[in-house]
Amino acid sequence: MPVSDTVVRRLHEILLQVADIRGQIERAPKQIKASETKAQQARDSVAACKDAIKKSRMEADRKQLQQRQYEAKLYEWQGKLNGASNNREYQAVKDQLAADTQANSVLSDEIFEILESIDSLQSKLVGLEGELKTIEEDASKMQAKIRERVVLLHGELARFEGELKQAEGDLPEDFAAVYQPLVKTRGEESFAPLDDRSCGGCNTGLPPRVVDQLRQGHPIPCSSCGRWLYRPE
Ligand SMILES: [Zn+2]
Repeated sequence: MPVSDTVVRRLHEILLQVADIRGQIERAPKQIKASETKAQQARDSVAACKDAIKKSRMEADRKQLQQRQYEAKLYEWQGKLNGASNNREYQAVKDQLAADTQANSVLSDEIFEILESIDSLQSKLVGLEGELKTIEEDASKMQAKIRERVVLLHGELARFEGELKQAEGDLPEDFAAVYQPLVKTRGEESFAPLDDRSCGGCNTGLPPRVVDQLRQGHPIPCSSCGRWLYRPE
């Protein structure tokens, strides 16, 4: 008894469903991994910003200490200036005092800049921490949703695999002998619907004799790609 195209069509539908569900199940861990990677990147950004703040604070502390040393020195020069015994000594101390005053002023500007950069890093940190919170919440919601979905998909997969087994068991014997090795290597690519006058799998045009046979409901393999063709619904 030749196989009917209703049977082949249904078989192909089930094979496509099974492949689709398996694909979704396989993609799930990758989707979870991707959301974890995104959260980790956000955590890294927060850590890097905190580190930059810490380094800037250390730099500001170091320069502030240096500034106090300058101030002590300026005080000392001032004392020496008052106690200068001659003009030459007075001028030399005055030059030193001017140079150190200038250096101290440069240092003050540098400290001011660092403190400003700490301010802007701190507001950046607030933003990054907000983003991280959102990303982590979204990731955990999404992961829970994916895990739930995978449970459902396993249920659907079991149902379609049961249907597949049933449909395979009902195949006429001579077609089953062709089908088994074919599906083993090509899975859901074992079949394709007729697409107008072409193979729906490889798009090759089919001879009129083959098209007629298919239109009468008799499945036949495509001579080009080997997929079994059937009449679409
Ligand atoms: Zn083909």
